Amino acid sequence: MKNIRLRFAPSPTGFLHIGSLRTVLFTYAIVKKMEGKFILRIEDTDQKREVEGATEELIKSLEKFNINFDEGPHVGGDFGPYIQTQRLEIYNKHLKDLLAKGEAYHCFCTPERLGKMRADQAANKQAPRYDRACRDLSPEIVEAKIKTGEKFVIRQKMPLDGVVKVFDEIRGEIIYKAQDLDDHVLIKSDGVPTYQFASVVDDHEMEISHVTRAEEWIPSLPKNILLYQSFGWEPPKFIHYPAVLSKNGGKLSKRDGDVAVEDYLNKGYLVEAIINFCILLGWHPKDDNEILSMSEIIEKFDYKDIRPSGSIFDVEKLDYFNGYYIRQKSLDELAELCKPYLEENLAKTSDKKQQTKEYLKNVVRLEQERLKKLSEIGERTEYFFTDKLEYDAKLLVWKKSTPEQTKENFDQVYKVLEKIPDDSWTNNSIGDALMSHIQAVGGKNGDYLWPMRAALTGREASPGPFDVAEVLGKEKSLERIKEGLERLS
Ligand code: GLU
Repeated sequence: MKNIRLRFAPSPTGFLHIGSLRTVLFTYAIVKKMEGKFILRIEDTDQKREVEGATEELIKSLEKFNINFDEGPHVGGDFGPYIQTQRLEIYNKHLKDLLAKGEAYHCFCTPERLGKMRADQAANKQAPRYDRACRDLSPEIVEAKIKTGEKFVIRQKMPLDGVVKVFDEIRGEIIYKAQDLDDHVLIKSDGVPTYQFASVVDDHEMEISHVTRAEEWIPSLPKNILLYQSFGWEPPKFIHYPAVLSKNGGKLSKRDGDVAVEDYLNKGYLVEAIINFCILLGWHPKDDNEILSMSEIIEKFDYKDIRPSGSIFDVEKLDYFNGYYIRQKSLDELAELCKPYLEENLAKTSDKKQQTKEYLKNVVRLEQERLKKLSEIGERTEYFFTDKLEYDAKLLVWKKSTPEQTKENFDQVYKVLEKIPDDSWTNNSIGDALMSHIQAVGGKNGDYLWPMRAALTGREASPGPFDVAEVLGKEKSLERIKEGLERLS
């Protein structure tokens, strides 16, 4: 059996797309499961689309997901170089071979001629296809044209009739009619190969055992397979991953929201949650247990279980996973992860006690259950760090109560809280003291607890008043209740 060697072959055209991360994760799971090697190859033959620094960014992004390569431009290996523009000599050698075999040809058609040809085809409702004008030029003519400096591309000679049968590991056999195949370009006029040529040569030279790529590349499969046949090479296995679709069914694009992996990380989605969510985009474990760590994924993943149909990117499901993994975190770790999102709040407070690790942990603890993304923590907990709360006095008045009544209740709350000794200021003792007071006077909970909570937070919604009071501390809580009382005066 061939050695197991799989590759991720991105074009350095910018950020890492969330769909590409799914591609990497699927491939990584297959590699690890089959104990193979994972290779990074940079496909930069389309220099116009290249973005500087994209390769480095991509490697850095993948490292955050613990995706490491056995070979690649950054780690080397025996099959390099791993950047396509550094492999032009290799392509040239194979191109000569292909031309000698008569499986490809020079095409001297000018862009103007091709433009007119396409316009005529469109007007006649024909599929855009090269009309093969140069396919049968004699070797003498070809040589003469090259000598006079005419520009040319190299095209693949596709069969003129019959069918081309290809095999995808997930979809099975796919049959193409030769008449539907175009004599497409293998080498551009600047001598640089297209994806179709470079990827086949590289996959062969790098001894790739399974080509894994997104479904959009299926139309390339007959071209690739014919090229393998022309060279007399044994093709690798091909696995095409289902498309990642937006909720309205189209391909997931910027219009549907964030698509860059870094955007998700910046919003405070956890690495574990993103991995877990992405791995389910087109694959499902047999035991239906959807909560999966990387090692469980590797254990359970089988590419034969990948579904061929497109998979919908549902951000609510990602939120669900993120909430789950946030709840699994230890408070220490979660507080550390939340810190960057609390910077703005920390800058607001002049109180040193509110800047301690202990305080941050207590604040974060109150939100751990509800938090869907780390970036929410700042807004949700702002009141814990504000020296003076801004809110309308009306907020303090519970439903059918009146400002006068509220003031009276507030007064009582203040007095009850004041009596709790500093060293037993816990949510339980605060709760016990207040609840027994309310019971003793025969009051309604809301009449006391609503204004208390509102005065402590300045908000319509927040965690419960005893929890908030505990975290704020006795001094700050009393100060805020007093301030609430003053607002009602
Ligand atoms: N360079 C191609 C892309 O970025 C890779 C396709 C493949 O994996 O063969 O989509």
